[in-house]
Amino acid sequence: MTTPTIQYAIHRETERNKEMAAENTSKVFEAHPMKGGDGPNSYTKNSILQRASVDAAKELLNKAIAEKLDIESFLPSKSFRIADLGCSTGPNTFMAVGNILEAVESKYRSQGLNSQIPDFQVFFNDHASNDFNMLFQSLPQNRQYHAAGVPGSFYKQVLPNASINFAYSSTAIQWLSRVPTAVADSNSPAWNKGRIHYSNATDEVKRAYETQYSDDMESFLQARAQEIVYGGLIVLTFPGRHSDTPHSDALPNMVLQLLGASLMDLVRKGVVSEEKVDSFNIPVYSMSTKELAAAVERNGCFSIEMVADLLVPRVDDTSSMPQLIASHIRAGMEGILKQQFGEELLDELFNLYREKCEEHISTTNTGKPVNFLVVLRRKED
Ligand code: SAH
Repeated sequence: MTTPTIQYAIHRETERNKEMAAENTSKVFEAHPMKGGDGPNSYTKNSILQRASVDAAKELLNKAIAEKLDIESFLPSKSFRIADLGCSTGPNTFMAVGNILEAVESKYRSQGLNSQIPDFQVFFNDHASNDFNMLFQSLPQNRQYHAAGVPGSFYKQVLPNASINFAYSSTAIQWLSRVPTAVADSNSPAWNKGRIHYSNATDEVKRAYETQYSDDMESFLQARAQEIVYGGLIVLTFPGRHSDTPHSDALPNMVLQLLGASLMDLVRKGVVSEEKVDSFNIPVYSMSTKELAAAVERNGCFSIEMVADLLVPRVDDTSSMPQLIASHIRAGMEGILKQQFGEELLDELFNLYREKCEEHISTTNTGKPVNFLVVLRRKED
């Protein structure tokens, strides 16, 4: 930082940016929001595993804000803007935003800047088809911030240039922007016949997903590089895998393999056609922190400030872990499954799925961490 005045990024309209903008308008973004409302299968009622991630991240978030956020460079500004990318319907997003606000305020106080605590504005982002009504109706009454909804894929720019001081995204960037085209194409060597995910598939399928991931992450970082002010932070938490863990052994992937196996059981029972399963794939990728770091290096606009395993505490719930996983997967995947297979199938599918989870996922099997936290800081161009 050279001067203590506002260090808003002034972004050059490079040829690359123009190309990206052109690509973005022509790209097809798939949207598979979580189940809305507040019914028994809704995301609101089935997101305590993601909530555990928010809780586990709290301490690291405080540390990142205390040590890495350069509030002095924002000082003349009377507002502090936060974006939650992939916020869903709550309540987790409200907890996370509360944690961020608390940490930022405490940083102002600890630096003797009580009189300069800014107004907070929070942008809640998700796909346009997310249940924003539900989100807005449940905004905390006593919130200390102005709230705004921002619809649209976070794989493109969704906020003005140099407008955000702090971006956050929890359990969302594992969703790719789309299923890689080749895996659903029966004429392609990467056709993913009989499976719905890459992790137990052929090398061609794995490569197609890896390429999609790396393109998407470049789009994500490029969009954030436009939106975030110099010195601003991004905190990302996501389910993924250790660099030395093969795709097929990572818990988030095993959970999806079991869903594929349940669908294939329904094919054998004649309830679902095989073609429907062959043309169906889940656009979720379990990245390693090493892959994410490589994408950040390639992009060049951010420094990596922190990489940590997120030690998610045991969830205090009366259901068993396999049951919990089954109901969480239902809240997350119901939309995409309904689109392909119809609503009638869901109860039978998830009964089968729950049994498979009980059979294959050990309650005590915590194994290696499967959640990670990464902190990035916007560098000056
Ligand atoms: N952050 C919340 C929700 C996680 S669920 C929590 O921790 O509980 C993942 C959310 O990411 C879903 O609401 C989904 O619609 C959203 N999402 C996935 N891909 C997205 C994209 N490309 N753009 C915006 N939101 C996306």
